[in-house]
Amino acid sequence: MKTMSTSITTINPYNLKELKSYKIQSKEDVLKSLDQADKAFNTWKLVEIDDRTALLDNVAQILEDKKEVFALLMTQEMGKPISESRAEIEKCITLCDFYAENAEDFLSDELIETEAHESFISYDPLGTILAVMPWNYPFWQVFRFAIPNLTAGNTALLKHASNVTGCALAIENIFKEAGYPDNVFQTLVTQHDTIEALITQDKLKAVTLTGSEPAGKSIAKQCGELLKKTVLELGGNNACIVLDDADLETYLDDMVSARFQNTGQSCIAAKRFIVTEGIYDTFLDKFIKKVRALKIGNPEKDTTRVSVLARPDLAVSLKQKVDISIKQGANLIFGNDVLDAYFAPTILTEVTEDMPVFSEETFGPVAAIIKVKDEDEAYKLATNSRFGLGTMVFTKNINAAKKKIITIPDGAFFINSMVKSDARLPFGGTKASGYGRELSKEGMLEFLNIKTVLIKK
Ligand code: NAP
Repeated sequence: MKTMSTSITTINPYNLKELKSYKIQSKEDVLKSLDQADKAFNTWKLVEIDDRTALLDNVAQILEDKKEVFALLMTQEMGKPISESRAEIEKCITLCDFYAENAEDFLSDELIETEAHESFISYDPLGTILAVMPWNYPFWQVFRFAIPNLTAGNTALLKHASNVTGCALAIENIFKEAGYPDNVFQTLVTQHDTIEALITQDKLKAVTLTGSEPAGKSIAKQCGELLKKTVLELGGNNACIVLDDADLETYLDDMVSARFQNTGQSCIAAKRFIVTEGIYDTFLDKFIKKVRALKIGNPEKDTTRVSVLARPDLAVSLKQKVDISIKQGANLIFGNDVLDAYFAPTILTEVTEDMPVFSEETFGPVAAIIKVKDEDEAYKLATNSRFGLGTMVFTKNINAAKKKIITIPDGAFFINSMVKSDARLPFGGTKASGYGRELSKEGMLEFLNIKTVLIKK
């Protein structure tokens, strides 16, 4: 992606060819969009919930009809293997279906018995919400914000990552085509300084940001001064604990996907594999074989499992973390080769807590493997992290694992499954991974005014 002061040019990270240039909107145009979104809110919030949920069927139908177009756009803009791009569109459809079925229930007044004649909670929309989104799941990240919020009566402004501007505009068109009133959902093609100006406006009620820690801190600081609500979904370095009694036969594929899906560019990916010594050699042998067998190549090919990173600079910064870790004593089994945006699948063993591949986030196909004596040491290392998105453990002793739930300080704990998002379940982190939740009922309530109503006769 090339950014000039007046335009953004998207670039296919696989062949480095320019895709398309987009004019950056002026600050005045962006502020005008906010005015329009605010005006749209005044009527949108009064639309019956049935009418709002009915539009979700239209959105789902458009996603289904144009799945191939949207999948290819994602793949060309950020290098995701095409089979995963299709799966991402399908996941957005399940999200629409989930809220179409459940929104009315989530948003209904909740009666509370008091001595008053009547008292209840009314779930009211707040107004215009700004979403600052990342490129790694260009459709899913936006949809999981937009669908519950629009359905609840909020209006939305999207500032997407610049390298997926085509996706951002395609999403705006989906809402238009689905029949949403004008200005209920708008994409802004803009830059950081304009976002700063936008946040200061009274008409902008709240901000959700999914992205890196520095971006989250910068937005949260500004919103904190203005007392504006934020939800932050930031980075992670999830541990995948593999205990002696893990069922590798059944779950090894899941463990490999947990790290290499989306070419390793997932906040909830398993970034640290913590393996007890009784199973270590068997695990390592099988894991290496599976990773070596991953089909690397052109992301537009159906058979490709791992492709390029979203931008060449991401490969450079990932390599720095791996190189430093190797200098500090990590053992490179294979990988760590870089060519433009390509970063080869990489396995490191003998990883220790002081190394960047343990303590920081590796946003790419790098598996850091740590051998530990026993279960206690495994959990101790797993929770030694600044981040708190999720932990996964593979073991046959589910009762013992359940006893650890209270000791895991993360937003998620998955037993015998990779950590993944699901429209039905809340998603979010703790510590440097951010705060607030998306998805499920909890996510839908984040940007609502939970209003107490009390009536005496
Ligand atoms: P990023 O650089 O923080 O960018 C994310 C978004 O924030 C982009 O739209 C970016 O715009 C914008 N942005 C960055 N700094 C900003 C500022 N000061 N003011 C206004 N907007 C700003 O992150 P990324 O590299 O795109 O994404 C990777 C990170 O996201 C990883 O750390 C990953 O773990 C995290 N992530 C978290 C989750 C989760 O749910 N927890 C999900 C996915 C990704 P530009 O593109 O214009 O710079």
